[in-house]
Amino acid sequence: MADVLFTNARIFDGSGDTPFRGEVLVQGNRITRVTRSGMGARAPQVGGVTMVDAAGAFLMPGMVEAHTHFSWNDQPSLDSIQRMPPEEHILWCAQVAKTYLDMGWTSCVGAAAAKPRLDVVIRNAINDGTIIGPRYLAASQEITVPGGLGDTTQPHLPQPEFAFGAVVSGAEEMRRCVRMFAKYGVDTLKINLSGESITGFSSENSQFTETEVATCVEEAKSWGKRVAAHARSTKSIKQCVNLGIEVIYHASFADEEALDLLEENKKRHFIAPGLAWLINTCHHASEYGITPQVARGMGYFRELECAIESMKALRRRDVRILPGGDYGFAWTPHGTNAKDLEYFVKYLGMSTTEALLSATAWGGPMMRMGKNQLGQIQEGFLADILLVDGDPLEDIAVLQDKRRILAVMKDGAFHRAPPLRSGARTEMTRWAA
Ligand SMILES: [Zn+2]
Repeated sequence: MADVLFTNARIFDGSGDTPFRGEVLVQGNRITRVTRSGMGARAPQVGGVTMVDAAGAFLMPGMVEAHTHFSWNDQPSLDSIQRMPPEEHILWCAQVAKTYLDMGWTSCVGAAAAKPRLDVVIRNAINDGTIIGPRYLAASQEITVPGGLGDTTQPHLPQPEFAFGAVVSGAEEMRRCVRMFAKYGVDTLKINLSGESITGFSSENSQFTETEVATCVEEAKSWGKRVAAHARSTKSIKQCVNLGIEVIYHASFADEEALDLLEENKKRHFIAPGLAWLINTCHHASEYGITPQVARGMGYFRELECAIESMKALRRRDVRILPGGDYGFAWTPHGTNAKDLEYFVKYLGMSTTEALLSATAWGGPMMRMGKNQLGQIQEGFLADILLVDGDPLEDIAVLQDKRRILAVMKDGAFHRAPPLRSGARTEMTRWAA
């Protein structure tokens, strides 16, 4: 792996400071030097490095997607997602993993797989270099109850092992299920605590008993695993806090008590609302039969309003809100994930700086890698770096355009090297050691 020196970059370092002109040196897989231009003497030159003249491009940390489903295959329903045979499905996941890296998501947190081992196999294949993809935490299937979100079995075809989710009832079945996924090697147990209105089971319903959830958490922790929850309903959000579920997806219907609980425990939790799913279901799914009128009937307009209020309140209380959420449906196709950042600005009133920080600053703990590893352009951090043509702080939507993401570096290696610019002769020339 060649060492790389980015020069003439506009550096957004992920600390919250305003961007500055400077240079970033990457040696091996780490950032080893960050220098501000015009700060007195030029930094000493280093031999044997590849020089990249960023020509003023925006240099930022690689982004972290907090709620990723590589195995959702851009279909309009859980049933049709799951129908893909395993052989095609694993190839699909591999292709999607590459797409995320292409779009600047250098870390992704798996939030459920459509079949038991898809996520684990993909994570392992990325880690051993068999396929190309972001850093990845592998999830279980969605754990659910009979009749709950993810139980796609039919009464005349009673084969729970072929459901979209893993269907359990009672503490002992839960324990067995968690142990099974631990055996398969997942990082995260995903549990569907609330419903999802589009499936006919209201988002405001909660499906698990306290004992079942507590067993899930207890068993997961004893295996060193994390628990993440689909939690739209008020009760389910409180279950997450009270029973120790670290990652909370959606949290739409947070009442005052839930907001207080989250604020009191904000260091323990990450929230990924998945706003794009709600917004696109309300406004951009007519092609698939979900007209705005249909979405309203399902309760999605009401949920969107509540989710916006909940997230605004959590933001005021300084709770960590991250982008990502249910891309991989027909109307939230993979690769469009940076829409979340645009929606954070547009619907939650975040500044563009805040939106960028939501995608970067908590990368380390979100990826279970500790604080000083990911999400910043600082000496000692892992070299996950993007070069962007344009200024995401002026227009956050540039991150939705692959052509504007000039370069993607993961772990010190270019997934996509920056294009040569005419006239910049020093670019990409290899210096003699
Ligand atoms: Zn999801």
